[in-house]
Amino acid sequence: MTAAIFAARANLETVLVEERTCGGLANWTNTVENFPSYISINGMELMERVLAQVEHLGVEVDQAAEVERLGLSGPLKTVETGEYVYTGRAIILATGRQPIRLKVETECDRIHYCSVCDGSAYAGKKVLVVGGGNSGFDESLYLLSLGVTEIILVEALENCSASETTQAKLRSHRTVDIRTCTSVTAIAKEGNGCRVTLEKVRCGERESSHVDGIFVFIGQRANTRMLRGLVDLDPHGYIITGPNRETNVPGVFAAGDVVQKSYRYLTTAMADGTIAALAAEKYLRAALTGC
Ligand SMILES: Cc1cc2nc3c(=O)[nH]c(=O)nc-3n(C[C@H](O)[C@H](O)[C@H](O)COP(=O)(O)OP(=O)(O)OC[C@H]3O[C@@H](n4cnc5c(N)ncnc54)[C@H](O)[C@@H]3O)c2cc1C
Repeated sequence: MTAAIFAARANLETVLVEERTCGGLANWTNTVENFPSYISINGMELMERVLAQVEHLGVEVDQAAEVERLGLSGPLKTVETGEYVYTGRAIILATGRQPIRLKVETECDRIHYCSVCDGSAYAGKKVLVVGGGNSGFDESLYLLSLGVTEIILVEALENCSASETTQAKLRSHRTVDIRTCTSVTAIAKEGNGCRVTLEKVRCGERESSHVDGIFVFIGQRANTRMLRGLVDLDPHGYIITGPNRETNVPGVFAAGDVVQKSYRYLTTAMADGTIAALAAEKYLRAALTGC
């Protein structure tokens, strides 16, 4: 959306195509507390504000439209959704990331990846949270605020990587049981919830528990499956870009979490969007005027 804002302000005819809801992963977080200008703001509310700005600038927004195919090689790029084929002389790829799924075969349908979306159904209930990073801890705190009464949080590594302050906040709750060196090895449907088998990573000691639901926060992977063979990707699937967020294909730029980089936040994604749009503008002007 930031790229669209800068492109529109540069008087470029701009179309924004989004598979689900504009704003991506930020819609999944209850409180954003590191976005300059707001001490604390709900993620979806922040994204709605950005979308209002995008629309105010006259950007054509096509939501609930998955891009299924891209043609990037020639000077005219094509973007195909189920319904339309868009063409343009420059394209900015900002497909972000998606949660890594828990690799445990199960029929249990109580496994979730977004507490903002699904957490309220667990008020008064007990849940398993998988992942001891910032997301696992932040989202556990959020689940408690929704009225979840009991949480088991498991982390496969020896230590949780969440920030000390967040860990301290969660550890102060008596109904939260944090277990390191522990992984989930089996999940079975049981009544309206699941029976989970938790295994100590080193000794293989097992224990099973009933939980009403499972929330998984074990990292993200780049949404670049459709881009394989079209632009250069690093071994982890992230798009390789130059300093102006240009890819190896002329006229193709990339921005946000999908780019190979060290820090993935709203502010860094927005900075990428700014740079990619300005670089795309420069590329288009050069293509038009020859300088
Ligand atoms: C639980 C959680 C909490 C977070 N909290 C914070 C926080 O407090 N502060 C902070 O700074 N950052 C936070 N982040 C990180 C932040 O959300 C991301 O850095 C930011 O959303 C990246 O923006 P993006 O546009 O690059 O990618 P995304 O937000 O992933 O957006 C990519 C968009 O592309 C769309 N898309 C993908 N493939 C296609 C396709 N084929 N066709 C059409 N559309 C497609 C997706 O639907 C998605 O909307 C959090 C992330 C998570 C998961």
